[in-house]
Amino acid sequence: MPELPEVETYRAALEPRLVGRTLTRVEIHDPRLTLPRDPREVATELKSERVATVQRCGKYLLVRFESGLGLVVHLRMTGGFPEEAATHERAVVELDDGSRLVYRDVRRFGTWVVLGPDELDEYLAARLGPEPLGTGFTAAHLRQRLAGRRAPVKAVLLDQRTVAGLGNIYADEALWHARINPLRPGGEVTGDEIRALHRGIRRALRQGIERQGANLGDGAYPRGSMQDEFAVYGRAGEPCLRCGTPIEKTRAGGRGTAYCPNCQR
Ligand SMILES: [Zn+2]
Repeated sequence: MPELPEVETYRAALEPRLVGRTLTRVEIHDPRLTLPRDPREVATELKSERVATVQRCGKYLLVRFESGLGLVVHLRMTGGFPEEAATHERAVVELDDGSRLVYRDVRRFGTWVVLGPDELDEYLAARLGPEPLGTGFTAAHLRQRLAGRRAPVKAVLLDQRTVAGLGNIYADEALWHARINPLRPGGEVTGDEIRALHRGIRRALRQGIERQGANLGDGAYPRGSMQDEFAVYGRAGEPCLRCGTPIEKTRAGGRGTAYCPNCQR
């Protein structure tokens, strides 16, 4: 499932292809993509729009047009923009330079939402906390989100209003960096641990971006090399890179969770 580093990799690849280009033809083949709106209506709205910027907000891609209109793309489980022709094409956009942009989604959970300039900020603000690599994400903000919480710290991190863009992979990696057990109640993580967690989140995500995300071999995200450098994710039974103790697998916040039982307390 694409998380911040994977979505950021798509954003960086799409930006030079899209900025300044006009959408000359938009075909949306899958009505689920635009629910509850009719895909033909959405396609008509997008046609003739000229792209101003391609941004990323948490795990959302945001294509802003010169008219002020915005297209919010949520890739969810398996959405993506392949470089070459692909199966499971759900939408195709043709641009005024003759190129084609294909949206692919095997499991069809992804969504495209078109919003007016006055709706965009509200839509994103209701769903997303601060960008983890921006100045708005501070240890003080993290402390506020964790305070009094009985839910596992991992579950608090997966809540996109705590910090935008973390998913199962990078939450596990961040907790390993911070030496914090993912099952501990959020409210019991305090002081220096919060600062370590703040640093760990940024470190895990920066590493993921540098490696262009993680290819888990399931076709969901067929790029990147972060999978070769995971500290804990997908490494149950293998030795901890810090202390050699076998990595264990448990469940936290309803998700499979990998951690070192020795150095994550
Ligand atoms: Zn360890």
